[in-house]
Amino acid sequence: MSATVIDGKAIAAGIRERVAAEVDAFTAQTGRPPGLATVLVGDDPGSAVYVANKQRACAEVGMRAFDERLPAHISVEEVAALLARLNDDPDVSGVLLQLPLPEHLDDAPLIAIIDPAKDVDGLTPVNAGLLSLGRPGIRPCTPAGVLVLLADAGVRLEGSEAVVIGRSNLFGKPMAQLLLADNATVTVCHSRTRDLPAVCARADVLIVAVGRARMVTREFVKAGAIVVDVGMNRIEPAQAGNKSGLVGDVDFEAALPVAGAITPVPGGVGPMTIAMLLRNTLQAARAQERVEVRG
Ligand code: NAP
Repeated sequence: MSATVIDGKAIAAGIRERVAAEVDAFTAQTGRPPGLATVLVGDDPGSAVYVANKQRACAEVGMRAFDERLPAHISVEEVAALLARLNDDPDVSGVLLQLPLPEHLDDAPLIAIIDPAKDVDGLTPVNAGLLSLGRPGIRPCTPAGVLVLLADAGVRLEGSEAVVIGRSNLFGKPMAQLLLADNATVTVCHSRTRDLPAVCARADVLIVAVGRARMVTREFVKAGAIVVDVGMNRIEPAQAGNKSGLVGDVDFEAALPVAGAITPVPGGVGPMTIAMLLRNTLQAARAQERVEVRG
C-alpha cells in the first residue's frame, strides 16, 4: 500500500485564509494592521527569496510589511541598533532576523536583542525557555507548522514513539519539546547517533531535518510510520524530478510504499513555515494590543 501524501500547501492555504479574516477584524477593531519587519543582512540570493516570500505573504493577508536590508559588511552595533529601533516601533508587531547571517556576525546575541513579545520566529532565549518550561510563548514557525500537519493528518502523538533527526535550535530542539508536550516518547538523533537507521525504524512518527538530500532511505522507515520531511536541498532539476530542483532529506519514492503518511518536498512542511509566521505575527499583535489597552 502507498502512503497518504500530506498536502502542506493546501493546509497552509487554509491557515492563511483564516489569518486574513482575523487580520481584517483586528485592523477594524484597533485601527492598525499587524506589522512584520524582516531584517536581511547581506545579499545571499536564497535568503533574499525567503524574505521576498514573507513580504508578499504579509501583504496578501492585509498585514504591513517592513523590509529592512543591511549591507553584508555592516557592524554588529548597527544591526543591534536597527533591532532596538524595531522593538520600539508601535507599528511593528513582529521582528524577524533572517538567518544565516554573514560570517562575521554571531546570531545568538543579536537574536537576544529582539523583544520576546515581537519574536515571531520564537528563537529568543525567553521564548525558547518558555517552550522548555511548557509555558505559553511564541513557538518557532517550522516545528509549530509540523504539529499542525500532524494534527490535520489525524496523528495521535500521545504515547507514540517519535524520532527527530537534527538538534538545531531552529528546528530539532523545539520540535522535540513540542512533541514531548504532546506526550510522545521522543528520541533526538544527530551526527553522532549510533546506528541511525535502527533508531529511526522504531519511530511511529519520524521527523527529519538534516540538510542532506534523500539521506533517509527505506530501511529507516517502519511500516505505517508517519514521515515528516523538513529538509530543503537544491540539486540538479533533472535529478530532482521537478523544475525547482528542490528535494527533501527523505528518499520520497523509497519511503512511499512503506510509510503510512508522508510529507512531500516541495509542498509539505515548507508552505507551513510562512503560514505559521503570519499566525505568530497576528498573535504578537494581539498580545501587544492587550498590553497597550491595559497600560
Ligand atoms: P542544521 O542547523 O544544519 O542542523 C542539522 C542537524 O542534522 C544537526 O543536528 C546535525 O547533527 C544533524 N546531522 C547532520 N548530518 C547528519 C547525519 N549524517 N546523521 C544524522 N544527523 C545529522 O540545520 P537546520 O537549520 O535544523 O535545518 C535542517 C534542514 O531543514 C535543512 O535542509 C533546512 O533547509 C531545512 N529547514 C527547512 C525549513 C522549512 O521551512 N521547510 C525550516 C528550517 C529548516 P549535529 O548537531 O551533530 O551536527
